[in-house]
Amino acid sequence: MRIGIIGSGVAGSLLAEGLLGSPGHEVTLFERAAAGEHAEAGTGLNLGPNALKALRLHAPARHDALRATSLPWRRWRVDLTDGTPLLDLDLLSVAEEPGARIRWSELYRALRAPVAPLTRQGHALEALEEDAAGRLVPVFVTPGGALVREGGFDLLVGADGRYSRLRALTAGDPVPEHLGLCIWRLLVSDAGDCPFDDYGQWFQGSNRLLAFRVPGDAVYVAGTFRLGGEVPIPEEARTAAHQRALFAPAGAAPCPAVAWMLDRIEADVAGIHWARTQEAPVLRHAAGGRALFLGDAAQAMVPTLGQGATQAIEDGAIAAGILRAGGDAAAVAARRDPRVAFARRLSRAASDTILGEDPVEGTRRKGREPFLAELRRLYTEVPGPGDGAPPARVEAA
Ligand SMILES: Cc1cc2nc3c(=O)[nH]c(=O)nc-3n(C[C@H](O)[C@H](O)[C@H](O)COP(=O)(O)OP(=O)(O)OC[C@H]3O[C@@H](n4cnc5c(N)ncnc54)[C@H](O)[C@@H]3O)c2cc1C
Repeated sequence: MRIGIIGSGVAGSLLAEGLLGSPGHEVTLFERAAAGEHAEAGTGLNLGPNALKALRLHAPARHDALRATSLPWRRWRVDLTDGTPLLDLDLLSVAEEPGARIRWSELYRALRAPVAPLTRQGHALEALEEDAAGRLVPVFVTPGGALVREGGFDLLVGADGRYSRLRALTAGDPVPEHLGLCIWRLLVSDAGDCPFDDYGQWFQGSNRLLAFRVPGDAVYVAGTFRLGGEVPIPEEARTAAHQRALFAPAGAAPCPAVAWMLDRIEADVAGIHWARTQEAPVLRHAAGGRALFLGDAAQAMVPTLGQGATQAIEDGAIAAGILRAGGDAAAVAARRDPRVAFARRLSRAASDTILGEDPVEGTRRKGREPFLAELRRLYTEVPGPGDGAPPARVEAA
């Protein structure tokens, strides 16, 4: 069976690694980025303990590689911006192992290394054709603008992120749902004087700062604030003065952590990446099961619980086992869709505080049952290779 994976990001790289040496599977990975292009890309991210559990069970070498290049995420602390404490959760009270704090560049490096020999870089999926046997033939464009065909594939896997070209070509562009929230990200380097370490959030009304240290003497900072509807991010919001006004406590001094972040925002406002929070409807397969979607291509979700890349890790690791065992796109859907639906529902429910609900009561609620039971389910209910019914070959819709 010839499998073409589009995108060597989180889900695509893990799927390819899981299929390495699988009898009867010939795998090629196509990546838009040229060699080395993503080496310093992105900022930082936190991976949930469930990502680490999925790797421990399905890809132990990758688990060890990620642990070696990340810091453990052990606590989830929430304060008001004046330092009033709201929540201090020990993740090991709801998980079997810590999550991870990592730089994007290191995550990509660790996941891509074992599949480099299978990867064709500088191959951006552009169009689709069909061969005489009814197999999909992807057409790629190279950085020089040349169109390249690599023959027909029995299965094409769209692991090409939230603007998936494979999904657009086989099922049309998904209509995103905007939450009316701006989320920005900044990677602060030379952060030796940062007064905090592990994952923290700081609320001023529903405006929220989120930050943690990542390896390499750096700190990842993200800010979230409401836009008042489905509107573009206004230019005047992209200034240090505006951000200070959003996050500084009213009538009180900011706590040391927030004071440090506000100064660093001021020093590097030009380095901020601005985005709007959006979700896309889930789609697992198309083209009669000849196209399978993993990660953001299937299920772009709100980043509130840091589950986007985490679910992409579960997707890649678990789908590899299903395909190895002879399962198809529908079998992947049967195993993954209920789990993804749960992670999306919980991530949306946990967004209450940044969407304008009472951040004090909303946060305190997260330190109590039933939210803790849901978090425990999210962080631990990851099936191992032998768990659950054997993936049957089911007719794809
Ligand atoms: C503001 C923000 C903060 C986030 N924070 C977190 C967090 O803390 N924790 C977390 O778990 N998740 C987080 N996420 C979500 C995370 O970024 C995504 O869910 C994750 O990257 C999805 O992985 P993926 O493998 O589906 O796609 P990606 O990792 O995006 O990989 C897609 C790959 O496909 C390639 N590609 C794209 N188009 C083509 C094409 N046409 N042809 C060939 N290749 C192509 C790309 O170059 C890339 O290599 C955050 C997202 C946002 C927006």
